[in-house]
Amino acid sequence: MAGGPSRLDLVAYCATRHPRVAVMVPGSLICGSGWDTIVTRAVDRIAGILGGRHGGQVEIERVDEKYGTLRIDLSVSGLTRRQRRLVDAAVSLAEERSASTCETCGAPGRVRFSGMSYEASCDEHAGRGAGDPEPLEFSRSRRISRHVWVRETVAYDRDADKLVVLKRRRVPNFVDEDETDNG
Ligand SMILES: [Zn+2]
Repeated sequence: MAGGPSRLDLVAYCATRHPRVAVMVPGSLICGSGWDTIVTRAVDRIAGILGGRHGGQVEIERVDEKYGTLRIDLSVSGLTRRQRRLVDAAVSLAEERSASTCETCGAPGRVRFSGMSYEASCDEHAGRGAGDPEPLEFSRSRRISRHVWVRETVAYDRDADKLVVLKRRRVPNFVDEDETDNG
């Protein structure tokens, strides 16, 4: 954790606004307060995906920091495949946004390695000895139809709050070649 602990009461936040989103364990929000709005936005989005005629329930198991970015662990029940996909997308969007958001103050920032661990920080809150910012782009393999896999270079667009595909190539006879750097 780069900065002060979050004082956001996630249990109360969900209980009062989003009854279909439950927090399993009080105290399961373990990150800096700079990410509070990322967490509440993700919860709002997830709640919006639930309900309607399909129902569905999401339980938040843990929200914390790992390798400098936000991790949101959920368990879901009663979701359609489409809802599941949308929930996954909301979670990855929040995790990607954290990589360009200072965990201490919420200002635009970048992930840097500080000799001991990774941290997402603005220039002001970067720890002593923090190195150069990590690249914002990352690669992933994705199935776009039954037999077609693609390898994509993706970047998070902070202003638009969405992922942008920069490069895409088709992977012939996909065999999980890059599993280790799927990130
Ligand atoms: Zn900061």
